[in-house]
Amino acid sequence: MTTVTAYAAPAAKAPLERTTIERRGAGELDVLIDIKFAGICHSDIHQAREGWGEAIFPMVPGHEIAGVVSEVGPGATRFKVGDRVGVGCMVDSCRECENCTAGLEQYCIRRPTWTYNAVGKDGEPTYGGYSQKIVVDENYVLRIPDGLSLDVAAPLLCAGITTYSPLKHWNVGPGKKVAVVGFGGLGHMGVKIAHALGAEVSVLSQSLRKKDDGVRLGADHYYATGDPATFDKLQGTFDVILNTVSAPLDFGAFLSLLRTDGAMVNVGLPEEPVQIQLSSVFGNRRSLTSSSIGGIPETQEMLDFCAEHGLGAEIELIHADQINEAYERVINSDVRYRFVIDTATI
Ligand code: NAP
Ligand code: ZN
Ligand code: ZN
Repeated sequence: MTTVTAYAAPAAKAPLERTTIERRGAGELDVLIDIKFAGICHSDIHQAREGWGEAIFPMVPGHEIAGVVSEVGPGATRFKVGDRVGVGCMVDSCRECENCTAGLEQYCIRRPTWTYNAVGKDGEPTYGGYSQKIVVDENYVLRIPDGLSLDVAAPLLCAGITTYSPLKHWNVGPGKKVAVVGFGGLGHMGVKIAHALGAEVSVLSQSLRKKDDGVRLGADHYYATGDPATFDKLQGTFDVILNTVSAPLDFGAFLSLLRTDGAMVNVGLPEEPVQIQLSSVFGNRRSLTSSSIGGIPETQEMLDFCAEHGLGAEIELIHADQINEAYERVINSDVRYRFVIDTATI
């Protein structure tokens, strides 16, 4: 066991504070990673505040992890000391079910072991990336291509894959019109990736405040959902709507913007239940669906795609003692576009 410095929430809704945690020694297939950067995902906040239900405390959040391998277990073959690597939302899964064997570990029938706020196969709680080191089985570790610097690569491990996976699954590409709802951490990566895939991209944001950034990052159009005229103008327009909003929306209004057979894919995960009238999907054989992160093979594919297209996250690098302030800013939609913790400051 190694004692490692970390930032943890001691209890639900309590501010995060510096503490120490124990990491296991590198086992047979493990990789010990010196964490360099950790992104702040809105999911960290939902969980640290028990917005999604009961959670495990103390909680060290963080599932957008980028670092360098500093030790490998005796049986580990995929990585060597010095490799640049990433860890996302999962650190294990059953490896045997039909989803795991298909590379869809995020849908493991026995549930994946989440990077934090979970219990590992050793019976110990898992602790995430707001810390200086982590030990992970090599099968759940990703390679960060040379073309991506570690700070802008960290958010790809969640925000990147969570948008890449549904855009690919719902065939977003040339000739397709896609709308990204919410221009935050996930949303801005959704815009970059959809643009790189060749689609015509619209942003649906609460206001036009971030329009210049949206256009710079690849949006062809940018609309304010606070303006009712937006909904009149865009009726029946989109093949795919990717909803990244962390709060409930008026689903009927957004579904009416889909073409026949269009799909609204929800990756945002509000804390409250949502309500819809089913008539808003019946009308044009529309789909209301969802997507959760992505499997390990697809996460590597996404990293390689982002490196090839020069896509990193737009980040604001912070020190660990700014985490609580960053949480407030994320909640207030005041983020451009991902806070990333320099873990040397933990
Ligand atoms: P974020 O950076 O806070 O972005 C969310 C954006 O939604 C905000 O920037 C804002 O964009 C918009 N928004 C916020 N509150 C709103 C409201 N009340 N009404 C309308 N729009 C609002 O959060 P994130 O890290 O991208 O995460 C977004 C959501 O996805 C969270 O719920 C998170 O838990 C979830 N998530 C899911 C997965 C998955 O696997 N499915 C993975 C990661 C995260 P504008 O300012 O442009 O309006
Ligand atoms: Zn996340
Ligand atoms: Zn499984």
